[in-house]
Amino acid sequence: MDLGISGKRAIVCASSKGLGRGCAEALAAAGVDLVLNARGVEALEATADAIRSTHNVNVVAVAADITGDEGRAKVLGAAGDVDILVNNAGGPPPGMWTEWEREDFIKALDANMLTPIALIKALVPSMIERGWGRVVNITSQSVKSPIAVLGLSNSARAGLTGYVAGTSRQVAASGVTINNLLPGIHDTDRAVSLDGGVAKKEGITIEEARARREATIPTRRYGTAEEFGAACAFLCSQHAGFIVGQNILLDGGGVNSTL
Ligand code: NAP
Repeated sequence: MDLGISGKRAIVCASSKGLGRGCAEALAAAGVDLVLNARGVEALEATADAIRSTHNVNVVAVAADITGDEGRAKVLGAAGDVDILVNNAGGPPPGMWTEWEREDFIKALDANMLTPIALIKALVPSMIERGWGRVVNITSQSVKSPIAVLGLSNSARAGLTGYVAGTSRQVAASGVTINNLLPGIHDTDRAVSLDGGVAKKEGITIEEARARREATIPTRRYGTAEEFGAACAFLCSQHAGFIVGQNILLDGGGVNSTL
């Protein structure tokens, strides 16, 4: 399917690896020029080179922490106006509700709620002026079904979800859509780290932790960054202009609910 976005320009935050990279690859395959971002220069440059040579699009790589004012300014300065924004950052660490202090919540809110909001505020006005734009926020299945050990994530992402619900409906008349993609478990470094935590806590191997988790998913497997990226690219396409303020689960059926 032609997504109709060849020649558009996108910022994909936190995109040297994992789900962000999956989104960047799928947008590049649709002919979108990219501004990629991550903190680590080596993986970021390697990803940028791989995407340039595979998809023949322009790729600007900006090494910066997207969750800080300085890092965001660097990314925005290098990007200028863009048509597409994919918001992403690392997720908060797991833990116990009794352990989290104010500072832990502030960090999680900065990374997973206030950073996407700041980028939306910076970039959506120029999308509105041009009459077209797409914003996709990578959140988590935890906004639909809480994951107790990820309480910091549950809280911050629920806040972003509330913001998007209202804001997306305010900007839709200008041809700008804002939606959230909710990953269930996907095969990335984050999954390895979460499985590692379970393995340590339960005294089992990381393979056993993964097998246990896979057994709880109707597909009996983890999702892939490629599948995730394809869904993101569709939400950014010309065909998705009527999808507004939605929270779309990509979880292999893991969240057990009718709606
Ligand atoms: P990942 O494989 O660990 O990749 C994270 C990417 O983000 C890397 O490129 C990393 O590069 C970059 N990054 C992290 N923190 C950053 C920051 N502060 N500024 C700029 N770049 C940053 O993670 P993932 O699995 O793709 O997860 C992406 C998001 O989806 C996370 O918020 C995660 O919590 C959420 N999620 C994932 C799953 C899953 O199963 N994978 C499920 C639910 C929710 P650097 O480290 O070099 O910066």
